Parts: sequence; structure tokens; C-alpha cells
Amino acid sequence: MSRVAYVNGRYVPHAHARVHVEDRGYQFADGVYEVIAVCGGRLVDVEPHFDRLERSLAEVDMRRPMSRAALAVVVNETVRRNRVRDGIVYLQVSRGVAPRDHAFPGPGVRPAVVLTAKSVPPARGDAKAAEGVRVVTLPDIRWRRCDIKSVSLLPNVLAKQRAREAGAFEAWQVDADGYVTEGSSTNAWIVDGEGNLVTRQTDTAILSGITRRALLEVAEREGIRVVERPFTVAEAQAAREAFVTSTTSFVMPVVQIDDRVIGNGVPGSISRALRELYRRYADGDGGA
Ligand code: PMP
Repeated sequence: MSRVAYVNGRYVPHAHARVHVEDRGYQFADGVYEVIAVCGGRLVDVEPHFDRLERSLAEVDMRRPMSRAALAVVVNETVRRNRVRDGIVYLQVSRGVAPRDHAFPGPGVRPAVVLTAKSVPPARGDAKAAEGVRVVTLPDIRWRRCDIKSVSLLPNVLAKQRAREAGAFEAWQVDADGYVTEGSSTNAWIVDGEGNLVTRQTDTAILSGITRRALLEVAEREGIRVVERPFTVAEAQAAREAFVTSTTSFVMPVVQIDDRVIGNGVPGSISRALRELYRRYADGDGGA
């Protein structure tokens, strides 16, 4: 089945989807993005994703490329044209195409919009989640506005590659005080000795994950206590359970952090239960 991309107002075959060499996303990473999950043909948490996109745009003084309603049409149409039932939509907005100059281009330059969509078989993540994954830790070398979902992802790229080379699923980035900020593309969580969920508070050091936000709601509904605070690598290694969350991995149990096995080396019961509850939420039974 041939894939279709949306590029600045047109649906084009994915293989021929192109942006200009002077697109500021390409030259300066001057752009923001979102990744939205599709579960059973339905977009998961589309409104919070649009909220976060609008916030990212505002934080970097970028105009909205189109109204929210128009964007919703384009997102749905991209999903439809790619026949995605389970998978993701990628949405990127850059400051547009203009002669290379660091400062913003004039008001006549319109933001550039690109969307792609692809199917991802749910079984793939389920198999990984059944075994649990490993994470490695490394220094967080990113800028101080990680709350903005910028396409400027070079430190995240390097971190994920380090994980890949170590045979791990994810890299947890660690701040100058020894606290875990987040993964290269996921939020980080642990379950402490009392069975509380612990995840870092949302400040400018991490992205406010949409999955994180949903899981906080789910946990609250289940009567699980959540504490939003930083935790160290040593605390995580001694934790009862650990997991990561993201649009693409949902709730993914972590069974090893660097050379330390978590719990008894298999996905913990709370992590497994939360994965199941989140799936129900994403499937629409959870009252999203
Ligand atoms: N942190 C970072 C750095 C990310 O790139 C992502 C993935 N977008 C997340 C956290 C998880 O966010 P979400 O649940 O919205 O996918």
C-alpha cells in the first residue's frame, strides 16, 4: 500500500514528499512537532496534542499555520489516506522557507506544515512490554527549554543511539544534580517502596508528555498515589518497578537500569496493570 504525506497544502506520494532546502526546519531546526497515536482507527488525546502544539508554537513566537479545525481535518485525512488503524501521525510545523538568516523572516513567510502517518502493529510493543526493556543513563546535555516540543533533537538522537549501541531500549538523561530528567523520547517513572508512582514534575527540564498526563488521570482514578518529584539514578535502581511512557510505547516496563536489575528482573505488577489500563483508555473505554 503506498503511503501519502501532506506537504504545505498538498497530499503527495510519501516517496516524493519534499521540502525546500531553505526550509528553516531543515536549516535551523526552527520548528516544532507532535506525534499522535491512532488506536483502532481513533486518534488518542488529539485535543491535548493540539494544545501542546499551540503552546510550543507560542513559546517560539511562531504563527499557527492554520486553524485548529483545519488542522484536525488534515490530521484525519492523512490517517484516512494511509489507512492507519493502529499507528501514529507525525505533524511538523517549521517557520517556513526563506533566505538563510538566523533572525525570523518577514511576516509574508508562512509556516510550513508536513504530516506523515504510518501503521504500527500493536503486537510489536506488546511483545517488548511482556519482557520489559533496559535503559542506560547518561548526562542530559540539552537546552533549558525541554518543555517545548522542538524538532531540534540532536542530543536526543545521540542519546537514543547510545542506548541502541548498548542494546538498550532507551537512555535516561540525568541532570547536573544527579536526577533523572526523562528519556530521549519518553517520560521516566518509578514505583517506590510504598507503592507510590513517582515521576518528575513538569517544568522546563522535561516535555509534558501527553501519555504521562493521561496516566496520571488513570492512576488517580485507580486510587494509586502519585508523587511528582525528581528521583536519582540510585533511587530508580533500587525501586520496586520502573517504566517509561510515550505516544509510541504507551507504558513500557523497565527491568534494568545500567547494570542494575529492577525488582526481580521481570515487568512489575503495577507497570503491567497500568499498561493495560492505559490501553483501555487509548481504545476509548477510559473516557478520554
Ligand atoms: N519526552 C520526550 C523528550 C519526548 O520526545 C517524548 C515523545 N514525544 C515524550 C517525553 C513523551 O511524550 P508523549 O507522551 O506526548 O509522547
